Amino acid sequence: MMCACKFCGSAFKRSGRAYLANPFCGERQCYEERLEASGAIDLRDNHRITLLDNGYMKIEPIDPTKLFKATRKEVADVGRK
Ligand SMILES: [Zn+2]
Repeated sequence: MMCACKFCGSAFKRSGRAYLANPFCGERQCYEERLEASGAIDLRDNHRITLLDNGYMKIEPIDPTKLFKATRKEVADVGRK
């Protein structure tokens, strides 16, 4: 069925059940903007991995104030302003 992305509104094809599980499109631009809108911390070159005694590991940000910023194309910027 044709679905509308819950975030950006673009149309895409997906079965009804799969849309219930994931109502967002797979576009990279939309994904990055959802990360930015959620206030996600950017962990790229900004994380520390600690091995714990129980076999698990802890991944934590070095700078928690470094938030994810979506990469925007020139064309996208023009439409936004
Ligand atoms: Zn979308």
